[in-house]
Amino acid sequence: MSTDIRCRFCGSTNGEVVADLGMQPACDHFPYADAAQTDPVYPLRLWVCRRCHLAQLAEDPTEPDEPRGVEPLALVRQARQAVAAVHAAGLLPSEGVALEHGSPHGGSWLGLLDERGIRPATDPGRPVDVVVDSFGLMHDADQNAALEQRVDELKPDGVLLVQFHSLAAVLRKRQWNAIRHGHPVYLSTPALVGMLARVGLRTVAAWWFDLYGGTVLLAARRQGSISPSVRHLIDDELAAGVEDFGELRALATAADETALALRGWLADEQSHGRTVLGYGAASRAVPLLNHAGIGPDLLPAVADASEAKQGRRFPGVGVPIISPDELVSLAPDDVVLFVPDMLDEIRARLPEIERRGGRWVVLEPAPRVIETSKKTATKGS
Ligand SMILES: [Zn+2]
Repeated sequence: MSTDIRCRFCGSTNGEVVADLGMQPACDHFPYADAAQTDPVYPLRLWVCRRCHLAQLAEDPTEPDEPRGVEPLALVRQARQAVAAVHAAGLLPSEGVALEHGSPHGGSWLGLLDERGIRPATDPGRPVDVVVDSFGLMHDADQNAALEQRVDELKPDGVLLVQFHSLAAVLRKRQWNAIRHGHPVYLSTPALVGMLARVGLRTVAAWWFDLYGGTVLLAARRQGSISPSVRHLIDDELAAGVEDFGELRALATAADETALALRGWLADEQSHGRTVLGYGAASRAVPLLNHAGIGPDLLPAVADASEAKQGRRFPGVGVPIISPDELVSLAPDDVVLFVPDMLDEIRARLPEIERRGGRWVVLEPAPRVIETSKKTATKGS
């Protein structure tokens, strides 16, 4: 198929659009609630390169401008586990220097490495022992330039630690709303191992974590033996369909089904006179609300703990973002949680929601009400 879409890693134009998610606003940009202008929308299409198998956005005209969210505890805990795992595998030097490609999602590893005698780099341009990229690479539009840069930063025996939300998890859990503007690529272990090889690095070890439904950490260096963990993870992700166009196409179907289910459920709750609000102005909620056409008429507000987001609105659909205190004072009957990883954390932080008879609802992907424990329910009565 002839196309003007060019692979963000290998430059090939031989590929295919596997999911068309319609017109979507830039989900990195939450306008002020009272901003008068309409929010621009852009096509959101997932394209897969047939040469290097990298899944990527066919176009991403947006400028990354993501207000820094609250760092989830789960991310902090996983960073500690990940550094411990790399250390246990003997891949960290006993001393040295590290540098990090940060992510707007937070979760720096530099402090954890410092505890193990690997200091943050202070001399720009000088190669280091450890380069960390935790959820950074997924924001780079030019993947070849980004990987070449990381290789250049490594000493001859240095190690690159690159961590990403795996496309295998997106497929297994039908997390189609992980696909969004501002995240130009959707990495898988098979694709990234191949890309690393093309820039001269061997993937020597791999780990899988439950964070975000499936997070992969790869360790790569210029030489070294390859642990069986790498082969296992490649096989596992191929089985999940990361290179199977049919599986990838099913994501668009999942998007339609999820949007319809949420919209139908909200309309039903409303017809029964129940107030439904949301929690978590995560950028991944932007495609969902827009795909489903859910505005303030069905979802009057979404709360978020990040002060940078309060007083703003969801782009496209205009749902206002309020503070957790305002959420509690509105005493909603249901609260849809758009950050499912944070259920236990948010629930513990806002016990008043359930004390006042409210229920938490998660999207799996259809709405599911979390049973209120007897202890919580009787506390306020
Ligand atoms: Zn390619």
